[in-house]
Amino acid sequence: MCAHRGSHLIRRYNRQMDVSHIFDDLNPAQREAVSADPGPMLVLAGAGSGKTRVLTYRIAFLVQAMNVSPMSVLAVTFTNKAAREMRGRIETMLGYPVGGMWMGTFHGISHRLLRAHHEEAGLPQGFEILDSDDQYRLVRRVLKDMNLDEGYWPPRQVQWFINSHKEEGRRARSLGDSDDYQAEQMAGVYRTYEDTCQRLGLVDFAELMLRSTELLQNNEPLRAHYHERFRHVMVDEFQDTNNIQYRWLRLFAEPRNNIMAVGDDDQSIYGWRGARVENILQFETDFPGARVVRLEQNYRSTSIILSAANAVIAHNEGRLGKKLWTDGEEGDTIRIYAAYNDNDEARFVLDRIEDWVREGNTRRSVAILYRSNAQSRVFEQNLIDRSIPYRVYGGQRFFERAEIKDALAYLRLVANRDSDPSFERVVNLPTRGIGARTVDMIRQHSREHRLSLWQSAETLCGRNMLPARAASALMRFLDLIRQLDEDTRHLDLPELTDTVLRNSGLIEHHQKDKGERAESRIENLEELVNATRTFNPDIAEEEMDRLTAFLSQAALEAGDQQAGEWEDCVQLMSLHSAKGLEFPLVFMCGLEEGLFPHQRSTEEPGRLEEERRLCYVGMTRAMNVLYMTYAEVRRLHGRENYSRPSRFLSEVPEESVRQIRVAASTAIPRPVTGNNGELGLGARVAHKKFGQGTIINLEGAGEYARVQVNFENVGAKWLVLAYAHLDPA
Ligand code: ATP
Ligand code: MG
Repeated sequence: MCAHRGSHLIRRYNRQMDVSHIFDDLNPAQREAVSADPGPMLVLAGAGSGKTRVLTYRIAFLVQAMNVSPMSVLAVTFTNKAAREMRGRIETMLGYPVGGMWMGTFHGISHRLLRAHHEEAGLPQGFEILDSDDQYRLVRRVLKDMNLDEGYWPPRQVQWFINSHKEEGRRARSLGDSDDYQAEQMAGVYRTYEDTCQRLGLVDFAELMLRSTELLQNNEPLRAHYHERFRHVMVDEFQDTNNIQYRWLRLFAEPRNNIMAVGDDDQSIYGWRGARVENILQFETDFPGARVVRLEQNYRSTSIILSAANAVIAHNEGRLGKKLWTDGEEGDTIRIYAAYNDNDEARFVLDRIEDWVREGNTRRSVAILYRSNAQSRVFEQNLIDRSIPYRVYGGQRFFERAEIKDALAYLRLVANRDSDPSFERVVNLPTRGIGARTVDMIRQHSREHRLSLWQSAETLCGRNMLPARAASALMRFLDLIRQLDEDTRHLDLPELTDTVLRNSGLIEHHQKDKGERAESRIENLEELVNATRTFNPDIAEEEMDRLTAFLSQAALEAGDQQAGEWEDCVQLMSLHSAKGLEFPLVFMCGLEEGLFPHQRSTEEPGRLEEERRLCYVGMTRAMNVLYMTYAEVRRLHGRENYSRPSRFLSEVPEESVRQIRVAASTAIPRPVTGNNGELGLGARVAHKKFGQGTIINLEGAGEYARVQVNFENVGAKWLVLAYAHLDPA
């Protein structure tokens, strides 16, 4: 029925304009969605069924066949990278650039809106974006100013409190009075934090959303202007929108309601951060008459991988329910590897990757996925040892590195003296004799007189209010920044950046440090200059000067939970960051109870289901080959953990897996122990006092050789082989 309708439409549109190249690579259900009449539409479908493709093609279709101007499309993607890719694809299809189209993340688009209307939004022109780390520092400062002890008011918790209120659209003043002391204080901190941000022109990520929502909500003419402009609103990964994002979408979409939302309730993985999968159900209520399209054919994975993923997710209750099939190949069985420890896990994974690359595959076709960012370190160490190029996403990204943030702070101060976070960051970096006491005095003065730190520093120096030594050190800093500004005024962005890096003393500061880390910091700083060279502002950012545009983009990218551009390297990322992506070869690592599913989630059914969805997301990233690994012992956060294999492994149907446990290939060094039994990883041994156990780790050689044995009765112990007198059991 819909196939018929689809072909009818195609014939009609084909006559108008040649859109056959758009329809050729779509199945009937996808065509139906792509060519549907305007109006609200929900594409609800499982992983790899072409949701993102449909969204992309729909935009191309609107522009090409329906004469919609790219200017009147507003498209929201989950990451900046996804936006860039989507734009690229559309331009290829259309054969010309679509610069006027607004396409980006919720945060990116909100930022654009606030820059364009900063006055109406009550923000200074040069407002600055706080990433999560900056926000954390500011929260600590507010706590300090309010004389609240961090021991009782953990800054992370306060940060979470503020953000979750903002994500629900609640301002501090709307929290109301409370009899509860704790709640009252928290609200007070939120209020002070808000005031501080407002006074200093600082905008955190949650504020970007809230402020732009309020702007649209309260400013009727502006809203009308954007309604006139944006005729079509599109959103990908709709299942992970939170309350405020949904409100924001509605504000843009109404009253025309030409909104296309695509998503998958089984891939909702940000509930812990306020995402509301209920928005999917709400959609049909809020947009009456919404057309619901379901896509059921998966084009990504082999049938074994797909059916295994389907079987795992089937353990969740309360799903909207979807069918998903593929006519692709059956493919290889999923391989489960039981590692002795995390190091053995990494060794196994890297061996497989080396084989894969030897067979002629690229490195970028491989992803190592994990639940916790901390897991990446062991992989990284092993990758470095083997000289395999790799890239880690979702952990510390480029723009979050300390040396880069220091450099950006100098650049910010040059652009905007009143940037307090920047002032605090570099006032004594490199060390120039400005102590904590001096900084405290500056802070206090700025609090009392409602001045920025820079202004206070100027006042304190000017009025001889500081001890002579401190004053002259501070003067030198103020002069340095002024001088940097003067020296770089006429320079373009890369030259400016280079000059600031050199003259600020930052490069010299790192040169004084020896060793690899210092070297890599300097390389990173050089890379920053490169980044300014290739920086290509969005249209929106033409309204700002290039430096401000660059700094804003840096802050936004630092908040991006996802991969950057690709070279040919192995990709490491958290399962959360892998959303929407696909790779021919995928390793899901650390499938252990307590790690994945995460400890916290095992106590709450709701959270456990979210972990299972994360598992589903992970499995469905794999196109051809999927490995799932776990370790019996894992060193994480400085502790050794022994755990059982993840329950998710037992939910994978037996017929789709093959268990592998490779006997340790490394022959254990043979110290003089008095027995001749072969001892290796996994070997069963007996000890006079501790009883029987399994060797799970080994270190050193000869007389220094040590083994770690997991004893049945007493747990794991490290023993020096030469003295332990272990016997094969
Ligand atoms: P996810 O839920 O993981 O975000 P998705 O539903 O957005 O997945 P896409 O990423 O759009 O799925 O598509 C998955 C893969 O299938 C992509 O490689 C895409 O190019 C391919 N694909 C989608 N539809 C078709 C089709 N009709 N013909 C051939 N390939 C297709
Ligand atoms: Mg997608």
